[in-house]
Amino acid sequence: SPNRQIIRSVSSVTIPPPACMLLPLEVPNRYLFGPGPSNVPPRVLAAGGRPIIGHLHHEMYEIMNDIKKGIQYAFQTNNHMTLAMSGSGHAAMECAVFNVVEPGESVLVSVNGVWGERVAEIAERMGAKVHTLVKAPGGYFTNEEIEKALAKHKPVLFFLTHGESSAGLAHPIDGIGDLCRKYDCLLLVDSVASLGAAPLLMDQQKIDILYTGSQKALNAPPGTAPISFNDRACHKMFNRKTKPVSYLFDMTHLSNYWGNDGKPARDYHHTGPVSGFLALRESLAILAEKGLENSWRHHKEVAEYLWKGLEDLGLKLFIKDKDLRLPSVTTITIPDGYEWKELLAYMIKHHQLEMTGGLGPSIGMVIRVGLMGYNCSTSNADKALAALSDALKHCPKRKA
Ligand code: PMP
Repeated sequence: SPNRQIIRSVSSVTIPPPACMLLPLEVPNRYLFGPGPSNVPPRVLAAGGRPIIGHLHHEMYEIMNDIKKGIQYAFQTNNHMTLAMSGSGHAAMECAVFNVVEPGESVLVSVNGVWGERVAEIAERMGAKVHTLVKAPGGYFTNEEIEKALAKHKPVLFFLTHGESSAGLAHPIDGIGDLCRKYDCLLLVDSVASLGAAPLLMDQQKIDILYTGSQKALNAPPGTAPISFNDRACHKMFNRKTKPVSYLFDMTHLSNYWGNDGKPARDYHHTGPVSGFLALRESLAILAEKGLENSWRHHKEVAEYLWKGLEDLGLKLFIKDKDLRLPSVTTITIPDGYEWKELLAYMIKHHQLEMTGGLGPSIGMVIRVGLMGYNCSTSNADKALAALSDALKHCPKRKA
């Protein structure tokens, strides 16, 4: 009949709104003096808080073009194939390995802390034949050792961490690019913890692929990761027989999304983190305004001030040779008798100040202090020293 009603059964929810969601968001103010993320300056936070625009709007393409220029400056490269990953430093690590290596190819990874371990695992997972050069945390590789291993394993890719944040080591780079060319191998360098803090010149040092992260000396929020490939790397990755295992990280698509492939149209591949890119643009602008050399000098001066203060407290620095110390992340040998976790917990509780322990193979060996970018000042070094000194006075000594 005309009066007949369609009765639809509507199921009702059985899970109530969670009580926590009915409370306001709480975020404490902390001094982030660990190895990252570091505190984000108001200007960068404000940039990330600007209105969202479409990831394929022409204004967004302009902002992405600015980011490319900012990365080219920060990396000191003219590479056209320069972009930012939608993802943290690990996204860039995986992007590099997935795109330039094919299953069964030989890869050489230097392992002197956790980052080499990670890259070795990433390469293993995608089916590469992985060879490692191994040193204890804090160790570094001579060019002779590297050349021997290149000759022996004939890798298509050699991985090296410039700023080994788990050990506090700044690895020498000079000459390694030439060795990699001699053995027809690509040089992949991780500068997540060192970019902007320690000198690095992608083109001059003949680095084929370089990546970094947003949340260290750049002081942008975590979640974006600049990366650049030179022509040698592009030749290898765009002449492969197999497709990379990851769709999201496939450089064929990413190079189009970033307008790097010479095609007239930039197509939809994935929705980039718009707010993260706005913030990254601003952090790269701050580095450009300050100047790379000023930034390197400033990190070195503040690090030296911190190192002296730590030694005055009777602490020992984990990296003995000053020239090999990473200016952005300082490693302190855990002082005799103390439980490192208690020292860290004391500083968070009483000073709202974060330092961290070791990572991977350096766990139980070191405490790490990072003063990066916006956080890099002698007044912040004083805060870190005061917190440590207080923790050493108030935390019980457990061992003899
Ligand atoms: N490499 C180095 C040297 C790092 O310090 C880090 C972060 N601690 C990473 C890679 C990984 O970056 P993310 O945590 O942003 O993925």
